[in-house]
Amino acid sequence: MFSEQLISSFGLKKTPFYYYDTGLLHKTLFAIKEVAVLFNYNIHYAVKANANERILQIISSYGLGADCVSGNEIDQVIKNGFNPKQIVFAGVGKTDEEITFAINSNIACFNCESIQELEVINDIAGSLSRKVNVALRINPNLDANTHHNITTGLNTNKFGIPYNDFLLIIEDFKKYENLNIEGLHFHIGSQITDYRVFNKLCKRVNEFNNFLLGKSVNIRHINLGGGLGIDYDEPENQIPDFQAYFEIFNKNLEVRTGQVIHFEPGRSIVGQSGILVTKVLYVKNNGDKKTIILDAGLTELLRPALYQSNHKIVNLTSSKELDVYDIAGPICETTDYFGRSVQLPETSRGDLLAIYSTGAYGEVMALHYNMRPPAEKYYSEELIL
Ligand SMILES: *Cc1c(COP(=O)(O)O)cnc(C)c1O
Repeated sequence: MFSEQLISSFGLKKTPFYYYDTGLLHKTLFAIKEVAVLFNYNIHYAVKANANERILQIISSYGLGADCVSGNEIDQVIKNGFNPKQIVFAGVGKTDEEITFAINSNIACFNCESIQELEVINDIAGSLSRKVNVALRINPNLDANTHHNITTGLNTNKFGIPYNDFLLIIEDFKKYENLNIEGLHFHIGSQITDYRVFNKLCKRVNEFNNFLLGKSVNIRHINLGGGLGIDYDEPENQIPDFQAYFEIFNKNLEVRTGQVIHFEPGRSIVGQSGILVTKVLYVKNNGDKKTIILDAGLTELLRPALYQSNHKIVNLTSSKELDVYDIAGPICETTDYFGRSVQLPETSRGDLLAIYSTGAYGEVMALHYNMRPPAEKYYSEELIL
């Protein structure tokens, strides 16, 4: 997938580093916008997937909104071209300072996750003499059929308002006099590849929407969150099938006149545009097993250690006979592996390896552990002449 020229320019850089294919990012944004416009869907990019400034500038240039989960993310996206009127603020633990900052930044909406949070936002809004828009993040108790560590919509997860509390809020919604409860929000998990899950989500959303029809709460927008998965096994499938994804909602959601539909994709926008390039430090052979030790570890890419996730790994500089390797990082942790029993061409010290599909939840999750410095990053337009 890489030209000789690009690989040789990789060889001149200090490793490990992130390489972003901004051409692919543009193509992906173009693809999602094209279908979203068709269905009149509103897209808020989930900033937590990648908050790199250059990436944010490209995404904001397509007119997308932003889904933020901290005050710093709100600050970062405003500085990089996003319109505050298109920012929503989610997260299960917003601090008073973050709430105040968000109100003063004139964001569009808070996605609220508990009765207590509604009360706090109501109080802070009152003290600032403001009225703020709020969406209720519902916990629909729905299994997303994905890794348990990225499942968020079950009653056992900390996220969202449980059904009984939702009823209490609706019965008494007028008491939040500084809040305008105008939206419903759902986000049931990440890296969802079983599309039947989205069908089920539509059903649940319809139930909530219908229930509210009889109440005097005016729901102006329904936010379906993010979660659309990418192909980690075959990253050649670069652009997710946004058409098929939106089609499910278009077919199954019962939308009332005046209601707007929002989505918050993160991974599906940036995931395939990033690659982690790393150098082989050592190849250990204990007789049973050959283990490649890389100069990148869980400090640069945490996903495998955190979720046992799998990334395609390719040796960019060897085309010898295939052999089987475990692939590990240099960090003093037993879980610091990127792959087990991976087939690679015979690999030796100094080879360059590419770890694919690291544009989302990669750079942004970097750790300082072992006093590791942050990895450099390069962009395709700088390296391809
Ligand atoms: C993480 C998150 C997203 C983005 O999820 P992806 O799987 O990356 O699309 C969207 N909304 C909320 C509330 C989230 O927490």
